Amino acid sequence: MKLNNLCWICQLKEANSDEHLFKKSLIKHIWGQRLNTIDITKSVNFGESKSVQSIGSKEFTVQNIICTTCNNITTSNHDRAFHEFSTRLLSYIPLSLDINSVDLSQMFSKNTKQNLIWTQLYFVKVFGCCIKNHIRQKQNKEKFKFKKLALSILNNKPCSKIWISFGHHTLDIKNELSLKSSKLSCEFYNGGKYIKQANWLFTFGKLVFAVKFSELNNNHQAWWNPNSTSNIVPFIGFTDIVLKETCNTRIPI
Ligand SMILES: [Zn+2]
Repeated sequence: MKLNNLCWICQLKEANSDEHLFKKSLIKHIWGQRLNTIDITKSVNFGESKSVQSIGSKEFTVQNIICTTCNNITTSNHDRAFHEFSTRLLSYIPLSLDINSVDLSQMFSKNTKQNLIWTQLYFVKVFGCCIKNHIRQKQNKEKFKFKKLALSILNNKPCSKIWISFGHHTLDIKNELSLKSSKLSCEFYNGGKYIKQANWLFTFGKLVFAVKFSELNNNHQAWWNPNSTSNIVPFIGFTDIVLKETCNTRIPI
């Protein structure tokens, strides 16, 4: 086994498993049987769109990024909680012009506190996979301290460095069959290679998720993690230029 291909979560096993950036279960939940008759468009970096023939496509994955155990066993509760969380958020989309906040205490039918932690740990996992992939593409010239993210997942504890924000497109578009993922935008410690802050954004149709890693302890208004003091969080209308450009490349159905 190559040492540089270790799973970033457990640091024990080979990273031979792919992580789906867009969960199959959620795609099916949103678009159901229509997947059989039309192409799916994946937009890479909000602009370079490509058609993908099925949700099993490698286009939707970060490949060889964690080990099978961490992907299928360690994080299975996290995946399931994210599915329930997202499904509930999707139900707000038709109301999105009338609401500007969401009460997270209403997101789960039971075990809300635990499920919210698992939901955050799902974002910790996919974000960690994205940043690992980013560093791989940069030939390891950029550095990132994975330990805090990995320990949160392994110990089932909230990660104080990962923040989430969510909402909807405010543009008047139909529920579209599109999945979009932005590039990571990274900031570094002065003159160094270590990442101190990074942002990533992805969409399922009109539903938008933003994920932020930050070593800083301030400026987290409008962002949530399980350590936040309030369960009432903004449901943001994403109107920035990035999303407008994204919407221009949509495939209406
Ligand atoms: Zn592992």
